Amino acid sequence: MPERIIIFDTTLRDGEQSPGCSMNLEEKLRMARQLDALGVDVVEAGFPMASEDDFRAVHAVAREVRRPVIAALARTTRDDIERAWRAIESAARPRLHTFVATSDLHIQHKLRRTRDEVLDMAVEAVRLARSLTGDVEFSAEDATRSDLDFLCRVVAAAVEAGATTINIPDTVGYTVPSEFARIIRVLQERVPGIRNAVLSVHCHNDLGLAVANSVAAVEAGARQVECTVNGIGERAGNASLEEIVMSFYVRRDILPYSTSVATTEIYKASQLLSSITGMHVQANKAVVGKNAFAHEAGIHQDGVLKERRTYEIMTPESVGIKTNRLVLGKHSGRHALGKKLADLGYPLPRPDLDRAYARFIEIADQKKEIFDEDLIAIVHDGMRDVPETFRLKMLQATAGSQKPSTATVILETEGREKVACAVGDGPVAAAYTAIDQITGFRGRLLDYSIRAVSRGRDAIGEVSVHVDFDGRTFTGKAASTDVVDASARAYLHAVNKGSRLARTLDAAETASALPRAAAAGMAADRARAEIQAAPAKETQPGREDAVGGPMRVVDSEGLIRLIHLV
Ligand SMILES: [Zn+2]
Repeated sequence: MPERIIIFDTTLRDGEQSPGCSMNLEEKLRMARQLDALGVDVVEAGFPMASEDDFRAVHAVAREVRRPVIAALARTTRDDIERAWRAIESAARPRLHTFVATSDLHIQHKLRRTRDEVLDMAVEAVRLARSLTGDVEFSAEDATRSDLDFLCRVVAAAVEAGATTINIPDTVGYTVPSEFARIIRVLQERVPGIRNAVLSVHCHNDLGLAVANSVAAVEAGARQVECTVNGIGERAGNASLEEIVMSFYVRRDILPYSTSVATTEIYKASQLLSSITGMHVQANKAVVGKNAFAHEAGIHQDGVLKERRTYEIMTPESVGIKTNRLVLGKHSGRHALGKKLADLGYPLPRPDLDRAYARFIEIADQKKEIFDEDLIAIVHDGMRDVPETFRLKMLQATAGSQKPSTATVILETEGREKVACAVGDGPVAAAYTAIDQITGFRGRLLDYSIRAVSRGRDAIGEVSVHVDFDGRTFTGKAASTDVVDASARAYLHAVNKGSRLARTLDAAETASALPRAAAAGMAADRARAEIQAAPAKETQPGREDAVGGPMRVVDSEGLIRLIHLV
């Protein structure tokens, strides 16, 4: 009988706190639902003390996602632990996860404490957490650079104080498999009572060893692995969930461990996450990369055609990649589209299907064959997590070697149409300036990426943007056969998120007096004032529209990228 390994997913906490991966409440909820479908044992939903937004998101996940354990992270202070508890107390199975650093480097320079003080902090925190819930995890931050005798002392004290899971993080991705296995073995030999707790590991990928270290730790006796979808996380990321799960699955002959993960949900989780964050998976990424199952070299193709196992250690189907390349065209009906999407793992309710169908028809008009990847992009494009306060009615842009480019944009908002024209160094920059003139928001483009979803000259281009409005970053995404159209709609997606937040804060200002909301509300006021100060014209038939002012949307980095890309 293989031994069960607990899969602790921290995509929504460690993953989310990494650059470019922040998610709003709806996005976290959507990802949490997929983690539930994936079958992970524990979902670490966030760090409630970090911000009001994080608190609300953890709270929402705890209320809605009922099967897995929902964990919340807290430092060792009373405030942190009590706040984390308030966020998850309504969960079906809440877990408090508290941590303190145990390496001298962190103790002296970051915490400015002594080892004994840290030991006391750990014990106090675990006791307090245990007084609130029976499921308490303690992490010894930077464990792999800690003095091993001291690490054993802290772990022993945490177990004694009531921790039910002991996590050993390789916080900076420093260890190697043989060393990490030894640490795990020493802890089991030296710590009295360690068998009363589950031993867990949490590895970072700074040397590309996070998965190897995690597997070595499991072989040495660890029974919980912390990981993230696509391996996202601080710096080089965390151990990747899909790589760990598939290692156990493919090599069950020598790794007698099982997990509760439904491997066929892996690809969908990976796609959903990159769709939400706009962080694309590298083509050669193990298990979920675009090329992970592509056989290009003639001799490999020949082998695979004769017998798949010659060059495939696992099938694409086993991770949920559908190889049935039934191609839809513009004559396919709504029913066929609905069925195909359900086969791909996206059973859509009627309103979403209608939206997806409308996009499908538009794209089918411009593109002969529609591949599975295209359909997934269409679904994600249609998954509007925010009301479309501003909707693109028309976009016309010029581009070429003669600068500047111009763009004319018509947006629909509150039942009216508004038009603006602008110039820019390229059609995308010009379109963004025109959009800003209508919405009144001034977006600063922090990141812009575009990729071809499928093959061929008529491939769908998927655009992801990160835009800063008044100090808050919003992500936007859209897909189209026209990259300027996709760029404009991705930007509007972010604008709509920003404008929705402004309205939410309006309501929050009157309902409560949270200091942070109030500060953010002032920012929203400024944004609203700008909207009023810069009204765009409503379209009238036959009326000439003025050309907008100079480019002022993007920073220089963004501009350089746009110039290269567009
Ligand atoms: Zn971490």
